[in-house]
Amino acid sequence: MLSEGRPFCKKCLLLDIDPEGLYKKVSELIEAMPDDVKADPDEYWRRLEICRGCSCLENGICRECGCFVELRAAARKNYCPSAYHFW
Ligand code: SF4
Repeated sequence: MLSEGRPFCKKCLLLDIDPEGLYKKVSELIEAMPDDVKADPDEYWRRLEICRGCSCLENGICRECGCFVELRAAARKNYCPSAYHFW
């Protein structure tokens, strides 16, 4: 459950909003990805820092594509869906 009445930043990653709920489930999915599918950790965090500053991020979800950005950023082959291709 997202924040349960507590104030939260709309432009946050799931990690910031719900570390024990949805983020935990997304993390398990990322963990289960084969190594050759995953982005390397530096690239993963570089992507997420860009998402944190993006106006399309809302409650951990990219409004361009509807993905959880943490999950989208985790796959090496993925890219930012914006016309600007931020990453
Ligand atoms: S448009 Fe790109 S940078 Fe912005 S939240 Fe979506 S994936 Fe992240």
